Amino acid sequence: MDQGIQHCYAGTQRIRCNSTQEEIVHCGGSAAWQCLAPTLQILTEISLICDLLEDFQLFQQPDTFTWSLTADHAYSAASAYGAMFLGSSRMLGAKQIWRTAAPPRVCTFFWLTLHGSCWTGDRRFRHGLQASNLCIMCDQQPETMDHILIACCYSREVWHLWLHNMRLQLPLGDHGEPALHWWLRVRKLVPKPFRRGFDSLVFLIGWMLWKERNARTFRFVATPAPQLVSAMQQEASLWALAGNKHLQNILSRLRASVV
Ligand SMILES: [Zn+2]
Repeated sequence: MDQGIQHCYAGTQRIRCNSTQEEIVHCGGSAAWQCLAPTLQILTEISLICDLLEDFQLFQQPDTFTWSLTADHAYSAASAYGAMFLGSSRMLGAKQIWRTAAPPRVCTFFWLTLHGSCWTGDRRFRHGLQASNLCIMCDQQPETMDHILIACCYSREVWHLWLHNMRLQLPLGDHGEPALHWWLRVRKLVPKPFRRGFDSLVFLIGWMLWKERNARTFRFVATPAPQLVSAMQQEASLWALAGNKHLQNILSRLRASVV
């Protein structure tokens, strides 16, 4: 045993870090250890490597690199890019956000909402940028994105008008339920032919509620809920005219209810 370890340690003196398989095997399989102090642990591990390499079969061909991330072991840029995301997990709602038919700026707005990156009154208050964190629309609760989108009494009135006009019996968000969770829960209750249109509609309503909040905050202009719903319907018609067939489909329920 002592002789074997001495042989292994002697091998470390002759090996470079870029040694080939053949050089490593012949020198005792210890290339990586040449810069390390000969402690008992290192010598034991070298001995273990020697045991593992004892039955190693060498071939006459030179060493080659193989790419283990593809089935045919051929390198591809796509597989290398995909390897950057190995072990990562997708955020809840990310897939639905980017699949929703809506203008890019609206999808980006919801993506920022998902990441909690919008500067609401509550966030500005926490950073010492304003004296109060109360909602500009109801002056009752902290102004968070979840509050603006579904929890505010003003927003709930808007949602109620929309759902009533479209004859959709869907529950409004429970107290404290994140808007994203509410959307992902409620969309499953919408009949499948109208589901993607409902997604677009949620984005449109959320986007215009945010714009209403901004109008009240920065321009001191407030719009009553029924008038905001009318403005939303005009905006929805523009989206449909621009080619949003899913929204066009669900808006047909609105026209049918008016007739
Ligand atoms: Zn409010």
